[in-house]
Amino acid sequence: MNDRILLIEDEAPIAESVAYSLKSEGYAVEVAGDGLSGLSTFRAFAPDLIILDLMLPKLSGLDFCRIVRRESNVPIVMLTAKTEEIDRIIGLEMGADDYLPKPFSVRELIARVKAVLRRTAVAGEDDQKTTLEVGDISLDLPKRRVTIKDKHVHLPLKQYELLRALMSNKGRVLSREELFKRVWDADAVYDTGSLDVHVRWLREKIEPDPSKPRYIKTVRGVGYKIVSDEED
Ligand code: CA
Repeated sequence: MNDRILLIEDEAPIAESVAYSLKSEGYAVEVAGDGLSGLSTFRAFAPDLIILDLMLPKLSGLDFCRIVRRESNVPIVMLTAKTEEIDRIIGLEMGADDYLPKPFSVRELIARVKAVLRRTAVAGEDDQKTTLEVGDISLDLPKRRVTIKDKHVHLPLKQYELLRALMSNKGRVLSREELFKRVWDADAVYDTGSLDVHVRWLREKIEPDPSKPRYIKTVRGVGYKIVSDEED
């Protein structure tokens, strides 16, 4: 079955050219021209991935993201002209999984879309156990759902994959490089800074006190491990 992509973009020429290219890559594509119709299309179409412009009429990309994240972990690739927003977009507040600054090349966008869908597909396949637990954190693998004390916590894709890698290896130290390989694409250039930033974001989501991590421990000079709160 073809992957379904919802494109939400109010600039018609961009929407048309992106939709055309996605369709010629074999994707099933729905296009919405504002945030509100994007939301109703999202609910009706159940896309595998959303490409979302940040600046939209009726409902902004930011508000769209917040609403969708209460309902779904669907991967979101954000398009934005506002580069200063990138930290907030990818990291903490909005829960996008990747972004492209405008203007962008359609070819680059399609490469990102493929990469995000590939990571999602791989994440859905492996692991025998269906639920991983460490302390109060519970990770439902088939649903890709993280709960802490039964409260749903949305994690963007990379933070989710990081947590999954750590929780599948509870108590075991994973080197930075190993973690990076598990979470990023095979062709990504190993970047320890980028890994550390995502660990920091993840801690802010799951740690009761991110400055004194009780779950994700830094192992100096090596990498990270996850432990239950009663262990060290
Ligand atoms: Ca726009």
